[in-house]
Amino acid sequence: MSKTGTTPLMRQYNDIKGKYPGTILLFRVGDFYETFADDAVTVSRELGITLTKRNNGGDQTPLAGFPFHALDTYLPKLIRRGYRVAVCEQTQDPEEAKAQRKIVEREVTEIVTPGTALSDKLLDHKRNNYLVSVFKQGTTWAIAYADVSTAEFYLAQTDYNEHIQLISSLQPAELLLPKKWKGDPDRAYASFNVTWVDDWIFEGDFAYKLLTDHFRTHSLKGFGVDELIVAQIAAGALLHYVSETQKGAMGNLRKLRPFEPAGTMMLDPATKRNLELTASMSEGGTDGTLISILDETCTAMGGRLLRRRLHAPQRNIHEIKRRLEAVEALLLQHTIRGEIRSELDHMGDLERLISRIALGRCSARDIVQLKLSIQQLPKLKILINGISDPVVGEINKRIRLLIDVQERIQKALVEEPPASIRDGGMIRDGYNAELDELRDITKNGKKYVARIQQDLIKSTGISSLKLGYNRVFGYYIEVTKLHQSKVPDTFIRKQTLVNAERYITPELKEIEEKILSAEEKINSLEESLFQELRIFVAEHTEPIQELATAIAELDVLQSLAETAFRYKYVKPEVNDGDVVSIKAGRHPVVERTLPPGEPFIPNDVDLNNRDQQIIIITGPNMAGKSIILRQTGLIVLMAQIGSFVPADAAVIGIVDKIFTRVGASDNLAAGESTFLVEMNEAANILNNATPKSLILLDEVGRGTSTFDGLSIAWSLAEYLHNSPDVAAKTLFATHYHELNELESRYPRIKNFNVLVREFDGKVVFLRKLVKGGADHSYGIQVASMAGLPETVIARARQILVNLESHTLEVDVADGDDALAVVKAARQHEAATKALGIVPSQEALPQLSLFQMNMDPRQEMIFNKLRAMDPDRMTPIEALMLLTDLRRLLS
Ligand code: ATP
Repeated sequence: MSKTGTTPLMRQYNDIKGKYPGTILLFRVGDFYETFADDAVTVSRELGITLTKRNNGGDQTPLAGFPFHALDTYLPKLIRRGYRVAVCEQTQDPEEAKAQRKIVEREVTEIVTPGTALSDKLLDHKRNNYLVSVFKQGTTWAIAYADVSTAEFYLAQTDYNEHIQLISSLQPAELLLPKKWKGDPDRAYASFNVTWVDDWIFEGDFAYKLLTDHFRTHSLKGFGVDELIVAQIAAGALLHYVSETQKGAMGNLRKLRPFEPAGTMMLDPATKRNLELTASMSEGGTDGTLISILDETCTAMGGRLLRRRLHAPQRNIHEIKRRLEAVEALLLQHTIRGEIRSELDHMGDLERLISRIALGRCSARDIVQLKLSIQQLPKLKILINGISDPVVGEINKRIRLLIDVQERIQKALVEEPPASIRDGGMIRDGYNAELDELRDITKNGKKYVARIQQDLIKSTGISSLKLGYNRVFGYYIEVTKLHQSKVPDTFIRKQTLVNAERYITPELKEIEEKILSAEEKINSLEESLFQELRIFVAEHTEPIQELATAIAELDVLQSLAETAFRYKYVKPEVNDGDVVSIKAGRHPVVERTLPPGEPFIPNDVDLNNRDQQIIIITGPNMAGKSIILRQTGLIVLMAQIGSFVPADAAVIGIVDKIFTRVGASDNLAAGESTFLVEMNEAANILNNATPKSLILLDEVGRGTSTFDGLSIAWSLAEYLHNSPDVAAKTLFATHYHELNELESRYPRIKNFNVLVREFDGKVVFLRKLVKGGADHSYGIQVASMAGLPETVIARARQILVNLESHTLEVDVADGDDALAVVKAARQHEAATKALGIVPSQEALPQLSLFQMNMDPRQEMIFNKLRAMDPDRMTPIEALMLLTDLRRLLS
């Protein structure tokens, strides 16, 4: 940033600005937050506010500012756009500074960044806001992640691929990376807000000390992370960053936990996108996503937990079964579930409330909200008692009533405190005697003075004694000359008038002080009482966090029971076997979004590693192939988060990873064409699948020429069948009907198709998956249904007839295997090229394909050209051939 001006104010600005590199500095000047120079240009562009010039001794520094009360509007906008913002306040009374002939003292009081935000205005209540730190040593990739607003703090050590998958499931609001990677950052980080952190912060000793100091422990053994040395470094960097931004307040981060990717089902970023778990492919919103159907949670923390579970389904059968049983118990107790739901509906966001309270960034409303939530617990516990299930029972044990917290808040705070703690009026009458007195004084100032006057008259016996007030010496006692003799010694003479004397007394001065400063005192006393209360509540951070976790788990279970009830889902049987068998499965989202009167047609899908490992699904466009693929993936995933599933019955042998290759999209920003994206996804699948995986392939090879595409698809299916290490259960939807030949060659490949009937030139979709391959795609009929002009449709039909009347002609004569050999050779070449494998040097068979409507003359030209060999021709022979060809043409 260019240095701005040399006035004392600007010198102060430059000093402060220099301490916060990479951060927009909002500099409080009177009633405005001002920004200067480059910050001003950014702020005016991002917030649409006017950019002016500060004419500073000829130095035309850009300036943009907004009134202080607009901070709540503008700050979130900057943070949402990925900026880090430091708020610099005036920390001295301007009058005092003036008297000292100094510039007002200023200090940065808050640094807000996308990954450390706490305010409700910045956070989506059903989404976690993760700050993620990444570090690498050798081949070990380490991730530490925390949601400062909810106090989750995890670390993980893993390999490159899993670290990418973990980042994609966390969707970080901010990513902390070592500065040394800045020159060549991994592409996977491109879509996140990256903050580059000084390399020295990623140091082992520094991290260990920081972590043990913070948790006040000798080692990290108690957290089960002592061995994760690389991840500790990432965690240290994260903690350091939080400490910097929160100005040392990190009291809510009480636990560090290991995250073990091995215990969860891995879902790569493409699969999460394709299955539309929490974001729709078209608009990025939640319409049409699985979460939009499954989320019947009543609390924000339950909503966040459900999302986390969707992104990391379980692989532990025991855990899945426990969850399924709890869901069943809650499903059966319909009435109690309803009552539990209405209790949860009123539960505040305990995780975020306690974080704000512990970090000192809360209002009195936050604490009242916490109390209201705690007050509901006894009733909730009684309701939960009605559910007989071990998991629910354990949750109930973890719900502690926290009576002391609730009572103290109840005593201290009014029911509806103001939004800001500076406004006063938070503390209840009767909580603090001094406050009550002060309030009494302000409310009844005149009455109070009259009472003192009465008391003085009584004690002195001077009936004409009066209490007065003037600006010079405040409250005074006036006694006429007549009664001078009765004036007690304790009165201090201040003024003599013609007929009277004026006095003050120490008590009167004390009272005066009370009256005059009562208002001011009330505010500061309320604030300090509030802080006392806040610290008391913050001391209960851990039990409140534990309570929040228990409530979140209960909420997720009841939500899954609620969806199971509403949509008639069944309990899947989950086991360690190799079978995925779904009877009458439905797509949980599509079945809810079909137009009225259009029923969803359920389908059976049976996969196993014994004799039906790969299912080739053919069928016309729009038949429902993609839906079958997706619903199979979603049903498996739902079962493994512990949800009931949309089917009549389902047996799910635990799946370790789901892969999808669906549709085609460009990633032009990363320099990848549609086809390259497709092939990257395919390569990822072949490199990472295991026999326990589920692969959903929806059209492979469509982004290139028909034969290249077909060859790749064929080769891929063979590879999945023949390589024991990657022999995953696979659903393969395709328009390449040639792939149906695979069934006769490979024992575990089976053909299915989605039925249609042709009626009166039109296609009727039956949406039923049946055994056997389909023979054509009805693409033209579907195109005509889509409203393509009649001439285009008619011409397409003509071309199709032509194409179909010409069979493939193959030069390599090898009986009935010829076609396969050709395909195999082609597929081999194309697949190897696309997948980056060294191409085979075998000669490819010569083909003459699609010799469309050639007349004999054209055919002669064609044959001559094919027969020639340019490498062996002399120039004269070549010229003669050209003359010959030209003659044939004319
Ligand atoms: P294409 O080959 O053109 O990609 P497809 O065979 O993959 O087509 P889908 O996308 O699966 O077709 O389905 C097309 C539409 O048909 C869906 O959007 C949905 O509206 C409807 N549909 C699919 N399956 C069913 C079903 N089982 N019951 C009712 N409607 C269905």
